[in-house]
Amino acid sequence: MLGLMQDWPLLVSKILLHAEVAHSDVEVVTLRVEGDEHRYTYGEMAHRSRQVAQALTRYGINRGDRVATLAWNTYRHVELWYGIAGMGAVAHTINPRLFPEQIVYIANHAQDRILCTDITFVPLLEKIKDALTTIETFVVMTDDEHMPETSLKNAVSYETFIAGESGAFDWPEFDENTAAGLCYTSGTTGNPKGVLYSHRSNMLHTFAGCLTDTLGVSAFDVVLPVVPMFHANAWGIPYATPAVGAKLVMGGPNHDGKTLHKLIVDEQISMTAAVPTVWLMLLNYLRESGEKVESLRKVVIGGSAAPRSMIEAFEKDFGVEVSHAWGMTEMSPLGSVGALTGKTSKLPWEQRLDLKCKQGRGVLGAEMKITDEENNELPRDGVAYGHLKVRGPWIAKEYFRHEGGDILDEEGWFDTGDVATIDPDGFMQITDRSKDVIKSGGEWISSIDLENAAVGHPDVAEAAVIGIFHPKWDERPLLVLVAQNGKEVPKDEVIEFLRGKVAKWWLPDDVVYVDKIPHTATGKIQKMELRQQFKDYKLPTY
Ligand code: AMP
Repeated sequence: MLGLMQDWPLLVSKILLHAEVAHSDVEVVTLRVEGDEHRYTYGEMAHRSRQVAQALTRYGINRGDRVATLAWNTYRHVELWYGIAGMGAVAHTINPRLFPEQIVYIANHAQDRILCTDITFVPLLEKIKDALTTIETFVVMTDDEHMPETSLKNAVSYETFIAGESGAFDWPEFDENTAAGLCYTSGTTGNPKGVLYSHRSNMLHTFAGCLTDTLGVSAFDVVLPVVPMFHANAWGIPYATPAVGAKLVMGGPNHDGKTLHKLIVDEQISMTAAVPTVWLMLLNYLRESGEKVESLRKVVIGGSAAPRSMIEAFEKDFGVEVSHAWGMTEMSPLGSVGALTGKTSKLPWEQRLDLKCKQGRGVLGAEMKITDEENNELPRDGVAYGHLKVRGPWIAKEYFRHEGGDILDEEGWFDTGDVATIDPDGFMQITDRSKDVIKSGGEWISSIDLENAAVGHPDVAEAAVIGIFHPKWDERPLLVLVAQNGKEVPKDEVIEFLRGKVAKWWLPDDVVYVDKIPHTATGKIQKMELRQQFKDYKLPTY
């Protein structure tokens, strides 16, 4: 027997419709790429998103066509997101930090018809425009006054593109499984692969994201997603904020500590989210300037493991709660968030900190388990570690155009490529990416744990650990460091600092300094490149 409830398709346009009636006068603030500040409301955003949908319809964009963006977090980017998906097309967010050849590959693979770009990326696009074979028109996200001279095909300013439209447009209804967004993963091997989100997956992810123990946003909040919209949907924040009526603040191209601090103070930001490297810049600025962030109640840290010293600094020195989150582009991206429970919140501070260093508890809708090499489930005892597998309605079942073939096992589980433990209270801890873990004498050493312990040293700016061939142990850890302010701590001192913080047999066999550690387009340490750099390195213990 079927239930007798209404069939109301879960479409992302419903979020804007809701924001328009329930939170119409709530502000959206942007530090624009043009260099000034822009303010308006969700009511105006909803109106202009409908203009976008009308303009795309007039242009001849059909349902399912891909419209790309190469853009920072701005109000125009959000308008495009809703406008494109709302009319039934697919909003394809491209990461501008990728190599130009990867951008070409991605845009061609997606068969994007229109590409909407910030002024910032016009010179980059001019260099690769002849290789972009499917793009018919470039929309430059600015007005005619700021429109640069450009050789891009059919270039038009965004404001001119939508200017003739009335905004009188009814969002169409269609199947909630229709594609809404596309984002390519910056995989370290092979070509990037497209994750094709649906309206249903985005809506369910939004409901789950708003829960108190997940992102926990409310109409009281002022939210600054520093994480870009081109990095896994800015972790769902541009859906969650209009859904609950939180004020949304977009930093445009600005990610430096000083600008972020000013924005936090000026707009009284209460919640913000980004990868650890961004928070390192903010914390450094706060320490150097002696400034505070009094309005801030919560910082979400994800994308890479948040070091213990960073969590401690936010919570102890600045009174800001840290929410350590884990997810993937393939997971829309939220998988787990580090909110404590009634029981664990009563633990002493050091033990609470231990838990906050873990990547959190699974969100309802994102099931997880760990398995051994033979796919047998391992116990949730906080000790056993294995391959982290996930399934749920906002997790990819295959990549766009079936790239990479079948990605689920027979029971529908997706292998995240991460290695993790899960404790009896449900807290999951990422040990490593399975290809980064150091295999020493049949046991695994977590490069993440070693790196996080090393950056706890005040004279270490950044740390990366890779496995180096060893004739007896297979692999042993090499610790690669970037010195803080050029002060290179001697090897023995570093090892002494790590002693007691990690198991004795985990202590690195050597320590080397580099000027810079390479990063991927989403801010992760590029281990492949480091391994290449040190491929002929001989350990002193060899
Ligand atoms: P991406 O799809 O670019 O967001 O990358 C997803 C991957 O980033 C995950 O599979 C993890 O390896 C890593 N990751 C994300 N969040 C965390 C975290 N909090 N701690 C450790 N690794 C993380």
